[in-house]
This record gives sequence, C-alpha cells and structure tokens, in this order.
Amino acid sequence: MSHKWSQFKDLRLRREAISWLQIRTSGGVHSLSREELNDFFFDGQPFKLIDPMKGIRKPAELEAALSIMTAYRKPGEDRPYADDVGPDDLPRYMWEGNNPETSTNAGLRLAYERNLPIIWFIGIGGSPTQFHAVCPVKIIGEERSLKRFVLSPVLEDDLTFAGLGDPGSAENIIKKYLQRETKIRLHQPVFRASVIRAYNGRCAVCSLGHEILLDAAHIVPDSDDRGIASVTNGLALCKIHHAAYDSSILGISPDYTVEIRRDLMEENDGPMLEHGLKERHKEKLMTLPSIMKERPDRELLDITYQKFLLAQPA
Ligand SMILES: [Zn+2]
Repeated sequence: MSHKWSQFKDLRLRREAISWLQIRTSGGVHSLSREELNDFFFDGQPFKLIDPMKGIRKPAELEAALSIMTAYRKPGEDRPYADDVGPDDLPRYMWEGNNPETSTNAGLRLAYERNLPIIWFIGIGGSPTQFHAVCPVKIIGEERSLKRFVLSPVLEDDLTFAGLGDPGSAENIIKKYLQRETKIRLHQPVFRASVIRAYNGRCAVCSLGHEILLDAAHIVPDSDDRGIASVTNGLALCKIHHAAYDSSILGISPDYTVEIRRDLMEENDGPMLEHGLKERHKEKLMTLPSIMKERPDRELLDITYQKFLLAQPA
C-alpha cells in the first residue's frame, strides 16, 4: 500500500512542476523531450511528470491525476485533435478505455472535483518526440456518455467578471473568453512549436536560424479557428519574410520557388532588399521539413500564390 501525500504537498508539487516547466520552456517557447522532462526533481527526488505508457499520469503518491498527454500524429494520419474539440470549441480529453473507474480516469475526475491544476503535454513530433507543455490546465466538466473530459487551459482565478447582468449573458461572456484564451494559450503555441520544429528552427526562405526572429506563418489564413492548424498549412518564416509573404511582396509557387514582386525587382536599395529579397527571386525554398508529410500543401500554396500574381503591378 502506498502512502498518499497530503493535499497541501500535492498542490506544492503541481505549483513547482508548473513553474519548472515555465522556466525550462522559456514560458512555452521551447518544447521538451521525455528525457529532458526527467530533469524535474521534487524535494530532492526525481519525479516523473509524464507517464511512460499511458496518456494520463496518476502518480501513486497522489490521489488525483497530475498530467495528460496527447500523442503526435503526422499530417494525414487521423487529423490531430479534430475529434477532441467540443461544440463549444473547448478541447476534450478521452477517458482511458471504457471503464470510468480506472485509477487514471478516477484520478482525472478527482482533479476536476478538487479544481486542481494539471499539465497537458502535446506531442509535436521530432526525433526524439518533443512535447509542448500547456499549463496550468483545468478540467471544467465531464461528458460521461462520450467518455471524455472538458478542458480549459485557463485558471478560473483569471475569470474576474464584475457587474455582469443576467447569468445567461455572463455565461456567454465566459464562454467567449474561454474560446479566445484556448486559441491564445493552446492552439497558437502548439501550431508555432510544431511548425518551427518541422523546419528545424530555420526560415524557409532564407534559412535564418534564430527562433526569436521566426514566426509560424499560415499559408492560407486560419479561417476555421477550431482546433490546431495542420503543419502543412504552415511555413517557418523570419519576421521580414513573413510580412513580405502576407503582403504579397513575396510569393511561393506550388513547386516551392520564391518570387519577388516585379516592381521591387527593379528597385535599388540597401542590403535587405538586395540580399534578403531580390536575391531570393526564382530560388527554391532553402528549408523544408525533412518529413515529406509535413511539407507545405501545394494546393494551399497555390491559393496564396494566385493572390500574389494578382498583386503584381500592371
Ligand atoms: Zn527569412
């Protein structure tokens, strides 16, 4: 029989784990491998934050679950997360198996009942597999008939709505708030981490390798905001090339060739225009994901390329 920790110690572990992750990932910018996650120590002892086999980590020392994990799937293999978003656009997490009372499911339910923060590790690919940590996350409901929990990557303490009128409108405001925060705290960071990782931390156009200067650009605007956009609708681009791409100064044809708008080609200016833009004209992309299935979707590239062609001066 294992001795359970006090609820106070449980909460201290969660707080320390979450702040350790925030420091190790520079506030969510970097992802971590399983091996790197093993560097976490609690009270001088190594403590596993992620289960080696299961999606839900319910440590023997704790009554409630500590973390959940979503495995990475390459584009084309079952679109990730598509079935894990509810009609309210909030993410869902499936039970382990069909039995609601396994220690993992019961542990996650207890985290919900006790309003405990948990950590969500989302696999973003790479070798070894990298995980993006979303934390703190809270369970805000359970859909028993669908065998899943409702997640919110926001602490309820953040919900400070004063002077709201009828409860119906308050509910709507909170729902909108949760949707927006889910996008900002979950969808956008996971998309960014997945794309930057796929391009090995380099700009597709110029190969610049400083992550702080890189963006994960959408090839076509993310009109469907539900779920996490696929890597195949993304390009790792440096700030300049991202802005140039979005404003049709720079085009990328479906065969991965860079083109620069005609009038800029006739201009003479400093080194950014000469080297950064004009010299890339008719050159192939310098960086592409090594995994074929993660390369930019040619049909999506063509949609944006046609807009680039239309933007050419007469
Ligand atoms: Zn660049």
